[in-house]
Amino acid sequence: MPLILDGRSVAATLREELRAGVREFQQQYSSPPRLDVVQVHGDAASDWYVRAISRACQHVGITFQLAQLPADIEQDALIAQIQQLNARPETHGIIVQVPLPQHLDGAAVIDALDPRKDVDGLHPVNLGRLAQGLPALVPNTPAGGMELLRHYNISLAGKHAVVVGRSNIVGKPMALLLLQEHATVTVAHSRTPNLAAIVGSADVVAVAVGRAGIVTGAMLKPGAVVVDFGINEMGAGQVVGDVDYGSAAEVAGAITPVPGGTGPVTNMMLLRNVLHAARAQQL
Ligand code: NDP
Repeated sequence: MPLILDGRSVAATLREELRAGVREFQQQYSSPPRLDVVQVHGDAASDWYVRAISRACQHVGITFQLAQLPADIEQDALIAQIQQLNARPETHGIIVQVPLPQHLDGAAVIDALDPRKDVDGLHPVNLGRLAQGLPALVPNTPAGGMELLRHYNISLAGKHAVVVGRSNIVGKPMALLLLQEHATVTVAHSRTPNLAAIVGSADVVAVAVGRAGIVTGAMLKPGAVVVDFGINEMGAGQVVGDVDYGSAAEVAGAITPVPGGTGPVTNMMLLRNVLHAARAQQL
C-alpha cells in the first residue's frame, strides 16, 4: 500500500496555523486581513467556488468581500474596479474569477492587478519573481502540492521530477517550485512524444492536464511519488483525477487521492497568500 498524501488532514493542520496567524495580525493591526473577489457574471461552478472561498475565509477570520459585476461590463469599467481595489488600503488580496466573458481581455485584467495583492499568483511579476527564486505570491494549486510533499517529508533534492502540463497556473509554477527544491525537472505537454517513457523515469510525478487516466500505474516507476492535480467530473457527482488511481496505487510509493488530495490544500494556500500579502503591505 502506498503512503496516502491526505490533503484533508494537512488542510486541517494548516487551517489552525492560519487561524492563529490571522488572530496575531488582527491584534497587531486592529483589523483582520481582507480578500476581495471580483466576479463577472456568475455561473454555477464559479458561484460554488466563491462560496467555498467565503466559507474558508470565515473559518480563519479573514474578511471576505464579493463584487459581482454584470456580464456585459466593459473592459475599462472592470479595470477601474480593480484599480480601486489596488488603491484601497483595507484590501490586502484580490481575486478576479476566471473564466471571464469572451469580450474581456483576461491577460490585461490580470496585468491591472497590483502584484502585491495578486493572491492567485497570476500576475507576470509574481511568476517572474518565482522563476528568479525571489519571494513571490505563488499560485495556490502548485503551492498546495509542494506543501503536501513538505508535510510528508518527501525529499526532492536530486530527484527526477516530471510535471505533466505546462499551464501558467499549475504546471509551470509547479516545475519552478520543484526546481527551487533542487529536483531535476522535466516538463511534459501535449507535444511530448512517448509520455510513458518520461513518466517511467520519474521519482516524482505531478500531473495537471485535465484528462482522466492520462497517467496509469503501468507508466510509473515502482515507488514513485504521485501528485495528481486533475479534477475531472465524470457525471453523477463523481470526480476523478488525471491519474488512474487504482492501478497507480499498486505501484506508487506515495499518492494523492482525488478528491481529498491537492484540492483541500489549495484553498489553504489562498488564505496563506492573503495573510502573507497583508503582512507585506504593513511594512
Ligand atoms: P490547462 O488546460 O490550462 O493545461 C493543461 C496542460 O496539459 C497543457 O499544458 C497541455 O499541453 C497539457 N496536455 C494536454 N494534453 C496532453 C497530453 N496528451 N499529454 C501531455 N500533456 C497534455 O489546465 P490547468 O493547468 O488549468 O488544469 C489542469 C488540471 O488541473 C485540470 O484538471 C484542472 O481542473 C485541475 N486544476 C486543479 C486545481 C486544484 O486545486 N487541484 C486548480 C486548477 C486546476 P499544451 O500546453 O501543449 O496545450
